[in-house]
Amino acid sequence: MSFFRVGISALVLGVSLAAAPLGAQATPLDPVNTVQIAGAPKAPTTGELTKNHASVLALVSRAEPLSPANYTPKDLRSVSGTSLELRQEAATALEKLLQAARADSQSLSALSAYRSYDRQKVLFNGYVASYGTDYAMRISAEAGTSEHQLGLAADVGLSSGYCNLKSCFGETEGGKWLAANAEKFGFIVRYPSDGEKVTGYKYEPWHLRYIGVEHAKAMNASGAGTFEDYHAALLKASKVKTPSASDIKAQRESLLVLRFLPPYRDWSIGYDFAR
Ligand SMILES: [Zn+2]
Repeated sequence: MSFFRVGISALVLGVSLAAAPLGAQATPLDPVNTVQIAGAPKAPTTGELTKNHASVLALVSRAEPLSPANYTPKDLRSVSGTSLELRQEAATALEKLLQAARADSQSLSALSAYRSYDRQKVLFNGYVASYGTDYAMRISAEAGTSEHQLGLAADVGLSSGYCNLKSCFGETEGGKWLAANAEKFGFIVRYPSDGEKVTGYKYEPWHLRYIGVEHAKAMNASGAGTFEDYHAALLKASKVKTPSASDIKAQRESLLVLRFLPPYRDWSIGYDFAR
């Protein structure tokens, strides 16, 4: 992958290239500029990406805690055949994923899904007691910073229990099936093996995050190493204003005026907007 390619496929996101000359400024140091987003049907708004926990694209992490900290999603429901809950859309997607796994002779089970603030607090404190704070922070989220509290994350493992919630799950046939097929159902493997510097968490091949089919596929195809990178690229694109037809007409008219007003006419030379 070239680091110098245009950062975001602006046309695909419905953003005018004239308003988004990102390629020229792309630097190898900016991961957002290497993310190539294609196939997403609709560019999300800035509002859908920030401060809206009900959006399937909501980013929740240690750096982006839930507000209020005890946020509870509105449309939780049981995942069929389990005592676990997810938001409606994610529950349906997980049921389809588990069915498809069975059809492919993989016996996978949902191990954990929605967790309330209070439940997360008990879990995190348990890890701190067992492993100390530093290690607990690498493997578990403090209450109010967990994606599980969004109702859009699920931990999946082998029904046999082998390697459950361990990195070796990623090497099992079921773990490989999950990594290869999750996107078809709108899930991403949220904490990849090389993502700890960005996500703050160790590799979790079992932790799935629902972001919708189009975005899951677009993210995996984009070169974004983590959801943080993908989210940042979407956010950057959402802030690029697409000029309306009337904006373009007004700019063109103002340039025509300048052109016929000496001695300022040279100002328009090299400005290609009016061509
Ligand atoms: Zn998890």
